[in-house]
Amino acid sequence: MKIFVLNAGSSSHKSCLFDLDQDNSEVPNPLWRAALDWTHQQGQGELSASSAGESMQQVLPIADKAEGIKAMVKTLVEGPTQVLDSLSEIDAVGHRVVHGGREYIDSVRIDERVKAAIQRLMPLAPAHNPANLQGIEAMEHILGNIPQVAVFDTAFHARMPEAAATYPGPYDWVEQGIRRYGFHGISHQYVAQRAADMMGRDLADLKLLTCHLGNGCSLAAVKGGISVDTTMGFTPLEGLMMGSRSGSVDPGILMYLMRQEGYSADQLDTLLNKESGLKGLSGISNDLRSVVEAMEQGNEQARLAVDTFIHRLRREMGGMIASLGGLDGVVFTAGIGENSPLVWQRACEGFEFLGLRLKNSLDRSKDDQEITAADSRVRALVIHTQEEWAIAQACLALL
Ligand code: ADP
Repeated sequence: MKIFVLNAGSSSHKSCLFDLDQDNSEVPNPLWRAALDWTHQQGQGELSASSAGESMQQVLPIADKAEGIKAMVKTLVEGPTQVLDSLSEIDAVGHRVVHGGREYIDSVRIDERVKAAIQRLMPLAPAHNPANLQGIEAMEHILGNIPQVAVFDTAFHARMPEAAATYPGPYDWVEQGIRRYGFHGISHQYVAQRAADMMGRDLADLKLLTCHLGNGCSLAAVKGGISVDTTMGFTPLEGLMMGSRSGSVDPGILMYLMRQEGYSADQLDTLLNKESGLKGLSGISNDLRSVVEAMEQGNEQARLAVDTFIHRLRREMGGMIASLGGLDGVVFTAGIGENSPLVWQRACEGFEFLGLRLKNSLDRSKDDQEITAADSRVRALVIHTQEEWAIAQACLALL
C-alpha cells in the first residue's frame, strides 16, 4: 500500500511517499521525499525532491500554493526522482491537520463534513488550518477520488482531564470552546510510544515527559499513554519560550500595550508570534544555534535569551512532572531537542533531586539514544520525531 503524506504549512509544504508493504518493524525511509519552501522570495517557491540517491531542486516562479503542490507531486512520476509510473499507484493520502477542535479526537477519513469542520475551526488556527484545507483540496484535484485521511495535531491531547483543559475565565468560555487544546500531538504520541519501546516497558505503565523543542516548542505529560497535560493551549502561543513566539506572558502586558501604546490585535499577533522568543530577546535569530554562538562570543543579550529559554523550560517541565505525579522518563525531540546537548544538560540539571543524571559525555547522534548515566533513576532519551511516518501509520490503521 502506497501512502502519500502531506504536511501543508503557511510557509512550507513537506511530503513523503511510504510503501507500507515493506517490512515495517523499523521506521523505513520513504520512497520519495519533497518540500516546497515559500520563504525565499515573494512570488517564488523553492522545490526540492529526493528518492534513492537522486535529488533535484528547482525555483518555481509562482505564488500559487496549489500549483506548487502539483509541481511537487509531478516529481513522483517525472525526472530524476521518479518512483512511480503513474499517480494512480497511490492508494491514500494522509494530511497533518493542526486543529480538530472538540469534534475530532481521532484521525478521520476526509469527506465534505470534515472539510467544513476544518474550515469552521480556522479562527482557532489561522496560520495553519487554511493551509491544511488548501492541501486537501489540491490533492483531491490532482488525484481525484482517493481516500484521504486527516490526522490532527490536537487529537492526542483530547482526553486531558477537564481541570487541565479549562481556563479559569468566566464559565461562558467553557461553553464557547475556549479551552486548552494542545498541539504537536502527532509528535508527542510517536515519541512516547518509541520511548516505551526503547525502555522495554509497556507505555500503559509509564509516566513520561515529552519535550518537543523545534521552532515551536511544547511539553506533554504522558501518563499511561494519555496526554494528561500540555503547555500549548487554545493556540500554539502558550507555554514555553520559542524561536520567535513569546510563549506565556502576563495578559496584563497586552492590555498595557493596547492602552498605552495603541497596539491593535494584528500588531500584538505579529509581536508575540513573530518578533518575540529567542529572536526577539536576542535580537539575533530565531535559530538557537546562532544565539548560542553569539552567547559564546560574549553577547549579553544572547546570554539572556538562552538563560530565559532554559529557565522557562525547566519551570514548565516541573509543572508537567507535578501533573504526572512521578516520572519514569524524559524525551527530547524536534530540531533543538534532537540536536542540542547544551539544552539536555541545562534542562536536566534542575531535576537531579529526582535522581535524573546524564552521562558525562553527550553527543548528537543520527540514531535515537539514551543520554542518562547507568545509575540514573529517571531515564532521558533523545528521539528523532517521525511525524510523517506516524501519519502514514494512522492512515493504514483507519483504512
Ligand atoms: P519546526 O518546528 O519548524 O519543524 P524543527 O523541529 O526543524 O522546526 O526545529 C528547528 C530549530 O531547531 C532551529 O530553528 C534551531 O533553533 C534548532 N536546531 C537545529 N539544529 C540544531 C543544533 N544542532 N543545535 C541547536 N539547535 C538546533
